[in-house]
Amino acid sequence: MEKRIVESDPLRNTPESFNTLSVDEIGDDHLFKGIATPMLPQAFLKTDEEKIASIAGHFKAIMETLGLDLSDDSLAGTPQRVAKMYVQEIFSGLDERNKPKIALFENKYRYGQMLVEKNITFYSNCEHHFVPIFGKVHVAYISSGKVIGLSKLNRIVNYFAKRPQVQERLTMQIAGEMESVLNTKDIAVLIDAKHLCVSSRGIKDDNSATITAYYGGRFSDDAVKNEFLNYLNLNTTYV
Ligand SMILES: [Zn+2]
Repeated sequence: MEKRIVESDPLRNTPESFNTLSVDEIGDDHLFKGIATPMLPQAFLKTDEEKIASIAGHFKAIMETLGLDLSDDSLAGTPQRVAKMYVQEIFSGLDERNKPKIALFENKYRYGQMLVEKNITFYSNCEHHFVPIFGKVHVAYISSGKVIGLSKLNRIVNYFAKRPQVQERLTMQIAGEMESVLNTKDIAVLIDAKHLCVSSRGIKDDNSATITAYYGGRFSDDAVKNEFLNYLNLNTTYV
């Protein structure tokens, strides 16, 4: 099947060798090819309503194949509910029209230190098993002259989380968007997450967490990176 990269690729790609692995070789490993979500050229030819109708039909077939009786009251509405949830909620971030519009402000306080937004809760789904990934995202940037409304950082995280994902790509997509919106390379992104495909099935390790990090520009300097990491360890619970 022909694939097309819809988004630009502002940061680096993963090594070419990843592209030659078969699905069986990749197995449960979370390898990925680049920072753009792989999309088909016809991804947006159908309206959302057409997508919901189509997915509902396919999901009904999956349930029936599993032997479920959809004439039961409790199951009858499930295909439609799942289809709406996919298109309008948990995978709505595939559609660039849902990308948050970001307004920037002049940095009139001349605040030149890093700004850290930590403990941004996110819910995503693993693209290999379609089960949840959830956890916390911590981001930071050093202003290049403009500042961003704090809630916009949460919106950027949530937009990219609402796609079938691998954590590495989610990290890079958030970093790439912050870099382009804030016009600075001085960006840090750290994701601490739990993958239900690891804890509830497969290896069934309920205690493991997955950490991914991106440090750009001045954050690749150890002192700046450590300052960021130290802020994450501060006790900032206020209740
Ligand atoms: Zn998975």
